[in-house]
Amino acid sequence: MELGNTDTYRQPELLIGGDPRGLDGREAMPVVNPATGGALGLLPLASRQDLDDALEAAQRSFMAWRRVAPVDRGRILRRAADLMRGSLEPIARLITLEVGKPIAESRQEAALAAETLDWFAEEGRRAYGRILPSGLGKTQFMVVKEPVGPVAAFAPWNFPTVNAARKIGSALAAGCPCILKPAEEAPAAALEVARALLEAGLPRGVLSVVFGVPAAVSEHFLASPVIRKVSFTGSIPVGQHLMKLAAASGKRTTMELGGHAPVLVFGDADVEQALDLAVASKYRNAGQVCVSPTRFYIHESIHERFVSGFRQRVRAIPVGDGLAEGTRMGPLAHDRRRAPLEGLIENALDGGGRLVSGGKAIEADGYFFEPTVLADVPESARVMNEEPFGPLALLNSFTSTDEVIARANRLPFGLAAYAFTRSTDVVRRVSQEVEAGMLAINSFMISVPDAPFLGVKESGHGAENGIEGLEACLVTKLVSLA
Ligand code: NAD
Repeated sequence: MELGNTDTYRQPELLIGGDPRGLDGREAMPVVNPATGGALGLLPLASRQDLDDALEAAQRSFMAWRRVAPVDRGRILRRAADLMRGSLEPIARLITLEVGKPIAESRQEAALAAETLDWFAEEGRRAYGRILPSGLGKTQFMVVKEPVGPVAAFAPWNFPTVNAARKIGSALAAGCPCILKPAEEAPAAALEVARALLEAGLPRGVLSVVFGVPAAVSEHFLASPVIRKVSFTGSIPVGQHLMKLAAASGKRTTMELGGHAPVLVFGDADVEQALDLAVASKYRNAGQVCVSPTRFYIHESIHERFVSGFRQRVRAIPVGDGLAEGTRMGPLAHDRRRAPLEGLIENALDGGGRLVSGGKAIEADGYFFEPTVLADVPESARVMNEEPFGPLALLNSFTSTDEVIARANRLPFGLAAYAFTRSTDVVRRVSQEVEAGMLAINSFMISVPDAPFLGVKESGHGAENGIEGLEACLVTKLVSLA
């Protein structure tokens, strides 16, 4: 495969205990630009020895890193955030080259990754314990928080810098070494977070970044007694597989898995505002977002107006190479989703669904897909039950509040949910009854570093970000002092 775009591309490498290791005879795989199908560079894959060295570095550095004062750990994280902000444009270009999203979205992502490091820089100082009034003479019971230990983290390709910053930031702030395996599809962008931390003064050993065959890497790390906690973001089947491996040695897990976010649009909603926000949110990162709004349930009184407003806005979305400033939707991040998406659409139409816009892959060298809208899709269609993870909106109608809440809760997933209404009564019911880790009302804003990011039901457990994100890397110890 020919290498293209190498002028702005930073060749990825392994970072073992913070030290770079390049190709040097290792197995390698090409990194592909999804907008052109051309190779950007060659990614070295970790050998068994590399993985063992990363484990050894984590083990060796744990005691020293946990003794570093939280305020000093925070200084390193904050300096890294500043370094990322200073290189925002080159980092954003790497994200777009590897993932395909529009450059404006990549800039936002890189800025959010820096802000995430800032959040954990602060929050690491608040690993508070407590002292209990014991009533047992002079014995004092102290409840203290300690780092859980070395963390193995597996991050996906859709937000390569934000996912890396969440996982590394929470571990380091809590006093834990971290070994990160970012997705092989977007290695250079994820490495920028690690490089910023190393440049900011992170001691050698505390952080490793490895790439490889995902199943082999995770099996190796999860079998090691060095690793005390596993953090994974990705699909439900892979998450469930990792939970089984973690259970065998009793490791703690944080799982951010898939979703199938319902959007409840009630008859009293501000329809134009809901439409503007919904279309912008749905086609962000070409719909390859775990909290992407997918199943729209629109009150029957406004359904046709909503469908026609949606169609009009979607047809105005310029699709193209994310590096072109006018592009509002880039390609899919890899080729493997295009055929399954077409299959889901065909199945929905066969079942009686209505094609409103788009519906197929775009003939091009890159992995482009039309922004697609379907309406009146039967609940039995596959796409109403499987996460499409692509630029596909499903616009169905509902009659009553009881009915729509039941339909929103019908699936075994519970990551994000959204509702649009002006009624406080409806807000109260939806807030209390919709099963989701995150619920946004009259907006799609749920992902900020200060707030927990989490799912319920099969969408996962544990949380990233927020005070819960730090807590997930801490264990509780009782000390009884006589
Ligand atoms: P996939 O299941 O093949 O991979 C998902 C991620 O898991 C990738 O980053 C991959 O490197 C990693 N992975 C796969 N097998 C692994 C293993 N045994 N051990 C450790 N890591 C492993 O899916 P995909 O084709 O890359 O993405 C499509 C699906 O993944 C979507 O349907 C979506 O559900 C899910 N996904 C979810 C998120 C999220 O933010 N929750 C992000 C990306 C992908």
